[in-house]
Parts: sequence; C-alpha cells; structure tokens
Amino acid sequence: MKFYIDFDDCLCETGRAFAVLAAELFGKQVPYEEMKHFNLRDSFDLTEAQYAELLGHEPELLADLEETPGASEVISEWIGSGHEVSIITGRPFSTYEASRAWLDRHGLRDARLYYLDKYGRGNGQTESRFILRPDDYFRMTFDYAVEDSPNAFRFFDHLPKLKVLVFDRPWNRRAGFPNDNYRRCFSWKEIRENAGGPG
Ligand SMILES: [Mg+2]
Repeated sequence: MKFYIDFDDCLCETGRAFAVLAAELFGKQVPYEEMKHFNLRDSFDLTEAQYAELLGHEPELLADLEETPGASEVISEWIGSGHEVSIITGRPFSTYEASRAWLDRHGLRDARLYYLDKYGRGNGQTESRFILRPDDYFRMTFDYAVEDSPNAFRFFDHLPKLKVLVFDRPWNRRAGFPNDNYRRCFSWKEIRENAGGPG
C-alpha cells in the first residue's frame, strides 16, 4: 500500500502551538476549538503584518511540536510491514532540516518527506529532490491519504480509488467531502482501523 500523509495537524499539533504563540505575541485568545478557519490569519483575526510575524516564528516552533498521539507508532508499523509512506507537506521548503529532524526524532527515519506547494506559499526557484512540482506529484499514486486541510483535497481528485482519511480538526468540520471515499477520523487508532493496516 502507498500512503500520503500530511505533516501539520496530522502528525503533530501545529494548530495548538500557533494558538499559544498568537496569544503570547498579540494577546489573541482563540481557543483551539474556536479555530474555524484553516488560514491562521482568519482564525486569529490578524493583520498582514501580524500574520507575517507569526509565520516568521515557524522554524523555532516546528522543532518542539507535540506529536499527535499514536501517529509515529502507526506509521512505523506500516513501514515495518513494507508499506510505502510519503509525508507530503505544504510547509515552505526552508523548514526542511527542522521537519526532517522532527521525523527522525520521532522514530520516522524511513518515512520519505516531500514538499508540495499546497497553499500557494511558494518554494521559489529552489531545486531539491524533496520538492514535488505539480507534475511530479500528479504522477504519484496512493491508496490512502491522511490530511486535515480541505484546501488540499484538490490534490486527490486524480485518484478515484484513493481513500481519504480526514483528521478531525475544528477548521475542517464545516467542509463538505467531495465523495464517499472521504471519512472523518478522530484518532490514529481510527486511522489505523480504516486503513486496514496490520493488527
Ligand atoms: Mg495539515
């Protein structure tokens, strides 16, 4: 089996960390459950300058992100059983070292890490074998995808049999699912069951 797995808010608790940071920097007290927008600027009602400042803290924030319970255990199990796992993130490529280090520290040395510009943040002219251009990405196939962002669902349209496991987050609760292959999951235990993986 081939797995597409998103990084932020699937493997780790990025939204919660940004909520803490927005409170510290700007006094914006938005509880996690009230983060109704995928875009942090909208969720925290930030100015452009505040939003830029918030994202400027991304590199230091990433190193310390809490793992989403069960993520590394389930993924390690899949890899150990011979499945192919690609972590495909929409983070800017400047976060590569920090992101790779986070995976390695969480026992995911054998998970591939790729960068795909999912949200139009841009990776400029940077060249790397870890950056997927749209053509590269759309040549890949997957059996399962784990994703939290409705803005990324368009990356699944070319795979009619793909099962998409949507990690439940406040910002995706109002999103309609494009078809019956989508299923909301509340934990990695549930993802593991739905992916028909080992055990
Ligand atoms: Mg995400």
